[in-house]
Amino acid sequence: MNSYNKKTPMQLYCSVITIIICSLALCGGLAGCTNPQLVNDKAHLPQHQDSVPLSRIAQEMSLYVAWDPVEKKALLAQDEVHIIIEPGSQIALICGEAKNMPFAAYVEQAEIYISATFYQQEIATVLAVAKQANGEKESDKEILPEILAWQPAPTKTEAIQVIVDAGHGGHDPGAKIVGGGSEKTLTLAIAQKLLAHLQRQGVAAKMTRTGDIYIAREERVKLANALQALCFVSVHLNSAPVPSASGFEIWISPDANKTRYAKSLRLARHVRAALKKNLPLRDRGIRRNDFQVIRDTTMPAVLVECAFVSNEQDLAWISDAEKQEQLTAAMAQGILSFLTSLRK
Ligand SMILES: [Zn+2]
Repeated sequence: MNSYNKKTPMQLYCSVITIIICSLALCGGLAGCTNPQLVNDKAHLPQHQDSVPLSRIAQEMSLYVAWDPVEKKALLAQDEVHIIIEPGSQIALICGEAKNMPFAAYVEQAEIYISATFYQQEIATVLAVAKQANGEKESDKEILPEILAWQPAPTKTEAIQVIVDAGHGGHDPGAKIVGGGSEKTLTLAIAQKLLAHLQRQGVAAKMTRTGDIYIAREERVKLANALQALCFVSVHLNSAPVPSASGFEIWISPDANKTRYAKSLRLARHVRAALKKNLPLRDRGIRRNDFQVIRDTTMPAVLVECAFVSNEQDLAWISDAEKQEQLTAAMAQGILSFLTSLRK
């Protein structure tokens, strides 16, 4: 499962803090502009003739583009292909392999430009090979998350209270669902709804991934720790060989750090109480294990196994969008009461 992980360097810090889908970027930039050619008029001529903006690459190849404000790098991703571009650097990391570009990537008018020749010869080739390997079984457009407007790299990191971590993604599907689908799709749908509930309550929250992309567990941890969030909530779905197993579980790490352990336990209790009160699902209690994302994060952290996809009733319940709203409203309520308790 982790073969790609080995190839991935630490620099693959694909914090999807500001997932920026550049396909809209171009539209935004062209608003009110009837002739797309006008963008390339003399006033907007990029520094190099052989330049292409990442937004155009993203649009042409249906890629995700994320800007990492901590590392100051752009990440282009599609399934298992990850490309990291750093403005000012001539090196492009393609799936962890350093490639030399004809000139350094540069920023102009809130756009990151790289060599068009390099794009055609290296990036397009890698993507074509990956597409062929995947048999083009799914339309990339379908998995594109909510499109946000292109914005220049933020200069200051916003204070984040909650990190919402959608388990799995990309080539890591998580638990397989009988009858089709996998855990990664449900975790993303639930995490997106949880984010919305939190934001509606005025909580500053960020997701570790906002699309169907693979992000290594250590990168999720690194993101949460870099942002110094107040708490970390990982969303997962359970699966068991016994189909009768059902209900939700909340996991915390048996932490050596007593203060953090006590806070993680407090977070778990608040979330558990809210779920117990508002959901018809069976309460399986608070459990302890060394899962990497809750072990290596430095803030109070829980991993919520929302329901069992291996249980018919649980699966039917959790697959329903309205029930997901019910679940995430309860989760948000628990998180909010935990945050309030921190101030007491
Ligand atoms: Zn999982």
